[in-house]
Amino acid sequence: MKPMIDLRKQYLEIKDEISVILDDILRSSQYILGRKVSELEENIRAYHAVEEAIGVASGTDAIHLSLKAVGIGEGDEVITTPFTFFATAEAVLYTGAKPVFVDIEPETYNIDVSLIEKKITKKTKAILPVHIFGHPADMNAIMDIAREYNLKVIEDCAQSFGASLNGRKTGSFGDAGCFSFYPSKNLGAYGDGGMIILHDKKVANDIRKFRNHGSSGGYRHECLGYNSRLDEIQAGILLVKFKRIDEYNRMRRDKASIYNSLLSDVVGCPVEKSEAFHVYHQYTIRSDKRDFIRQKLSDSGLPSVVYYPIPLHLQEALRFMEHREGDFPVAERVSREVLSLPIYPELDEDDMRATCEIIIRAVTQ
Ligand SMILES: *Cc1c(COP(=O)(O)O)cnc(C)c1O
Repeated sequence: MKPMIDLRKQYLEIKDEISVILDDILRSSQYILGRKVSELEENIRAYHAVEEAIGVASGTDAIHLSLKAVGIGEGDEVITTPFTFFATAEAVLYTGAKPVFVDIEPETYNIDVSLIEKKITKKTKAILPVHIFGHPADMNAIMDIAREYNLKVIEDCAQSFGASLNGRKTGSFGDAGCFSFYPSKNLGAYGDGGMIILHDKKVANDIRKFRNHGSSGGYRHECLGYNSRLDEIQAGILLVKFKRIDEYNRMRRDKASIYNSLLSDVVGCPVEKSEAFHVYHQYTIRSDKRDFIRQKLSDSGLPSVVYYPIPLHLQEALRFMEHREGDFPVAERVSREVLSLPIYPELDEDDMRATCEIIIRAVTQ
């Protein structure tokens, strides 16, 4: 079986630069919160045209610490989507707040903003949209609702590094934007890592304390915090890849348009709204013959993955929330019909064509 994503090809292309930067870091003997983390924070801050950027240990921590820093805690409700990676809801639960799910749009798989207001109660404190698969959620509508009801907005940008709406980058709309540098993400490290971007300096300083045991230095601890720092080695690797992120995203978009041209007659292909710049963290097709297609691909040694087979409200870990099948019909139906195909900058076009031929045969036979 071919791999869903081949990170080795990219490594071999940037190997020399990685070796130089790793040697520099290892010789510096500054391994935690050193110059590379600051340099990466500054690059990512400027890229998003925001005031602050703070490296943390993971995307999950980025969401957790952001929610905490804007004041979300015990007894609060946070509106989010059931069609996402589990960590989105996990981060809400870590704060003591409750995730309140809202169904998704069938075209982009993002939260359906027309259903948000019905879910707002006195306890609602924040909206946590996810830019799923790299397509931006409808941030203008979400920010309008947030202003009207005085809610915080934390963006889960784990899958959307470089995506934008009318030229404005995801993560720069809300009170904080949360990125993951998990290796397979569009901007991926060689281990775990994350970053928070935001406009507010005071909230940023709280997050800087939270990531470092509640301390601003000098062994003075002003609050309880966490050990959640981005390390220098990951920051160094990310500096090498950050220089190329626009090029990597452009290559993903080129692959997506090849898939579109070959598959759009036979399956549902990803939609890109006119105001959106999609970065195709995943290229996800939709078909009622999903399982059959997947089997045929697998029989030919071609990879595909179902992101995500179980919406969050039906996950065993969230059974205490007492949701039932039928609560979020679009998310449930999408979970039965989606299939993600390999997409990464270095993906081989002959492999893409082979994948498409199998899909066309499976659907039309
Ligand atoms: C990857 C991911 C996360 C978690 O990021 P980690 O760095 O793995 O903690 C959160 N939300 C979404 C949508 C993700 O894809």
